[in-house]
Amino acid sequence: MLSCRFRPSYDWAWVTYRGTIYFAGCPTDRPLNSPSSATVKLLQGIFDRFQDQSFFILRQRLFLNHQPSAMDLGMIRLVAKRWTNIGFSKENNEMNEPQDITSWQEFGKRDELFVESKLPRIRFTSSVDHIGSLEEASQALVELESQIPSAPARHQQARRIAAILTDHKGQVLSRSVQRAWLNKTLHAEVELMQNYFRQHGTGLPPHSTIYVSEQPCRMCAAMIEQMKPQGQSMQVHVPQRGRILLLAQVNLAEINKTSVKPHSL
Ligand SMILES: [Zn+2]
Repeated sequence: MLSCRFRPSYDWAWVTYRGTIYFAGCPTDRPLNSPSSATVKLLQGIFDRFQDQSFFILRQRLFLNHQPSAMDLGMIRLVAKRWTNIGFSKENNEMNEPQDITSWQEFGKRDELFVESKLPRIRFTSSVDHIGSLEEASQALVELESQIPSAPARHQQARRIAAILTDHKGQVLSRSVQRAWLNKTLHAEVELMQNYFRQHGTGLPPHSTIYVSEQPCRMCAAMIEQMKPQGQSMQVHVPQRGRILLLAQVNLAEINKTSVKPHSL
């Protein structure tokens, strides 16, 4: 039975394709503001290890043993199609394994929050350690964007998008550039949030600010929302577009409304 493999002290997400169960687990007692989950590990792991097959794998239905967060739904909406919460740890622990399974592919260690990536990192430099105005933010973003390498022509996602996190005084805490042509989930904001969490093990500091080249998509908005300090709105500036967004403006409720609907088995 699946519930024997998937112990209930973890959240699990999995998908079956051609005899293999691709799966990831994440502890249920992880910090609430962590920018990862079983779904995030599964989807990031599939693109990290199986990018060429990812399109076919992710046409299959994803299964979860828990209710997905807004962040999970944002990522599912971006890269996958259908999902079902079968909740076997509570009501349905008689759930049987699919019959034709011949191998199991786990992504990441189940007690760790992230899948260790095997993809190349992009080395970039920045001459900016402090941001005091939108003009400076814009210049710092352009400097980072210019270091994003041209991607192979078959990949459409090599857009020049960078992101910067500063503290309440404008000191730069973290920077990122997108790597979506390597892994479709690695938007600049996802890189920024996950790198910050890897380094500090916490959510975003109070009164911090994010600068980004384009308005965050729903996945990124939901991940920022998950990481932001409790009870505070988060300022997200898009200086090159002349926009300042409070995160509340990115309507997270829409993710639930317009995302692919769950179906019962
Ligand atoms: Zn995004």
